[in-house]
Amino acid sequence: MKNDKSSIHPSLLTRKIIHIDLDAFFAAVEVILNPKLKNKPLIIGGTPSSRGVVCTASYEARKFGIKSAMPSAQAVKLCPHAIFLKPNFEAYKNASREVFKIIRNFSDTVEPMSMDEAYIDVSDSKNATLIAENIRKNIFSDTQLTASAGVAPNKMVAKIASDINKPNGITIVKPHEVFPFMQPLLIKKIPFVGPVTTKKFSEFNILTCSDVISAGRDFIINTFGATSEWVYQRACGIDESPLETTQIRKSLGEEETFPKDITLMEHKLRELNKILFNLIICLKNKDLAAKTVTVKIKYANFKVRTKTKSYPLYFYTEEIIAKVALELFHDFKCENDSIRLIGVSVSNLIDRKDLLQETLFSNYI
Ligand SMILES: [Mg+2]
Repeated sequence: MKNDKSSIHPSLLTRKIIHIDLDAFFAAVEVILNPKLKNKPLIIGGTPSSRGVVCTASYEARKFGIKSAMPSAQAVKLCPHAIFLKPNFEAYKNASREVFKIIRNFSDTVEPMSMDEAYIDVSDSKNATLIAENIRKNIFSDTQLTASAGVAPNKMVAKIASDINKPNGITIVKPHEVFPFMQPLLIKKIPFVGPVTTKKFSEFNILTCSDVISAGRDFIINTFGATSEWVYQRACGIDESPLETTQIRKSLGEEETFPKDITLMEHKLRELNKILFNLIICLKNKDLAAKTVTVKIKYANFKVRTKTKSYPLYFYTEEIIAKVALELFHDFKCENDSIRLIGVSVSNLIDRKDLLQETLFSNYI
């Protein structure tokens, strides 16, 4: 495939996807909780005397050949001085929430894959690589955890890419690089290509993506059935699957255009309270909390002005939102102005179920 745009599959030119994957996540959280464990071969999972398996091994333990899902009894033979710890899921969950909070600051389109892995759609942004680097930087500065990232035009390539410079690395695959990037890879590297498919293909000496392409689409379909066409697609680097996400809105607002311009302050405040009431109900129904309040006024001459206030902590109670909105409204000093519209919105939203108690404003007032 040539590197000019005309030969690039159109689906590779429309999206920018980041795959973020924390490095040895459980082990890394344990090191934060107990820094003495740093640089030690650490195994999170069942004890060697039990019939348990390895959940996560630190990179020091991996040097001895220890892998996830290996029986702990086997792991201890490979590395007798390894330190075994039982998983502390509460701590991992808390760390994961912190990380997802950081990720969601960069995009509303996030598909969590597990506690330590997510796809992020940043198609609207100019520089996906910069966003990926900033996510990694912020995760590290806020949590001390390192993450690896893949940046690519689709989920599959982004996921394969994030594994290449692990730990604490980044791999970028541009649209014209997708096809050459895929070719040398073994087909088992393609997500969801399992041992059964790998074995079936290997019987025809098809081991790499490049072998799949050489065999040809028709051969693949005729030999392995119509459902195997997706393997051919993936070997070409094509994956049009969307992110599966429940999107969190960027902002939530209510506004009212009055049938007649209003001048009386008492009248303005009455309208503002009505708008606030609706907004607070809406925020409550959607189970969201916010960090920012914005008040907008449109004057009789159609000029629009806004005032915004943000806090470092989240809030959702009527008391706080009304207080902030009223202060902002008074800042307009619009006592003598005729106005035709008032709007209030809240932004920097978060799902209340993802809200950590310590980040809640009402705990501090
Ligand atoms: Mg990981």
